[in-house]
Amino acid sequence: MPEEKKRVVIIGAGVAGLLVAQQLRKQKELAVTLVNEHDTFLFLPRLTELFSGSIPQQKALLPLKHVWKGDFVLDQANLVNPAEKSIILNSNATLPYDILVVATGSQVNYFNTPGSQYSYPFYSWEDSEKLREHVSRMLEADEQQGTHTFAIIGGGPTGVETAYALAHIVHKQRPGAKVLLLEAGPTILKVLPPKLAEAVRTELEVAHIDIMTNAKVLDITPMSISIERTEGGKETIPCYTSVWAAGSKPRTLQISGIEYTPRGEIPVRPTLQSQVDSNIFALGDCAATGTPKTAQAAVQQAALAAGNIIAHVKGKQLAPFTYAEKGTVVALEKRTAGIFYGKLITGFLAQQARDKYYQYQLRSYQ
Ligand SMILES: Cc1cc2nc3c(=O)[nH]c(=O)nc-3n(C[C@H](O)[C@H](O)[C@H](O)COP(=O)(O)OP(=O)(O)OC[C@H]3O[C@@H](n4cnc5c(N)ncnc54)[C@H](O)[C@@H]3O)c2cc1C
Repeated sequence: MPEEKKRVVIIGAGVAGLLVAQQLRKQKELAVTLVNEHDTFLFLPRLTELFSGSIPQQKALLPLKHVWKGDFVLDQANLVNPAEKSIILNSNATLPYDILVVATGSQVNYFNTPGSQYSYPFYSWEDSEKLREHVSRMLEADEQQGTHTFAIIGGGPTGVETAYALAHIVHKQRPGAKVLLLEAGPTILKVLPPKLAEAVRTELEVAHIDIMTNAKVLDITPMSISIERTEGGKETIPCYTSVWAAGSKPRTLQISGIEYTPRGEIPVRPTLQSQVDSNIFALGDCAATGTPKTAQAAVQQAALAAGNIIAHVKGKQLAPFTYAEKGTVVALEKRTAGIFYGKLITGFLAQQARDKYYQYQLRSYQ
């Protein structure tokens, strides 16, 4: 009698989850099922380029049926019962597993900011489409009502890339429109090496993006943003478009017996197995791995998780995760800037290097 295949269920077909699935696909002893709430795969690091229209969709947004030929469940996973090794889906269906992989990514975090519902988050393809429609409406209205301000809240890499992409769209039609980047801290891009942050800052100025630091957003309305300056004083900025890029938090689903960290992540061992259940693996943005919440880290974790799942099934020793920083790039169209092998490279060359790298990476998802 041939031995029964182990059922591996992966929740989340994003940067980490789909890669684990592809790497396990050819294992004869495994039956892999992918669960995702959308029928598309989005390579998130290229979302700002999709938004600005500077890359075609096939470079970052792929129908899952074109890339994943295995079992697929189009649904949202809501609840995991590890005692019964089962997952309850939004449709109320139950999905059994032997090994579970949780790779549910991140969601927007508004930090309880009043009026956050009036800002546009920028963390998914749907977010990008809603923002694009809103910006088109604003640009049309501009013709009758004068020039608007387009504000981006959050001076981290996501906010900066979004501001640049937005300026690209807005200034094409309304060169005089104000694009304003708001940051609560004293400096933008504080997570990046200083020489890269400085180079990017220069490019933002060249692109006529106003930067306001030490400006904490207190309140958002459909027509304004209220801020508090670190040096004292409050201001209200008239503004019909505010984009929220000031924070994200892990996406969670209820897993009985698992207590999330205060940041909302799944606690994991160095092997990426849950600390309380060796049949549950977690990786990417939703796992407490201590690494940056980046695609770079998620991709490296996916490779390790796939190898460890095979080892786990075969009763072999699992390996610990170690993170290797490969460089950082900020996508600014033809003015892209990045640190490659310790060297700052800017402009067309950096844009081409990033494009080639991501094109190569995308092939491992197909
Ligand atoms: C605008 C933006 C730009 C970025 N740029 C970069 C960059 O340049 N470089 C970089 O390294 N990183 C970048 N990042 C971060 C990077 O994209 C994330 O760290 C990475 O995508 C994390 O991978 P993941 O697999 O954990 O989550 P994701 O890629 O987000 O995938 C999660 C998947 O799970 C699905 N899902 C979630 N919950 C459920 C559920 N309950 N049931 C079913 N499906 C579910 C989601 O729909 C999604 O498909 C960027 C992020 C954003 C938002």
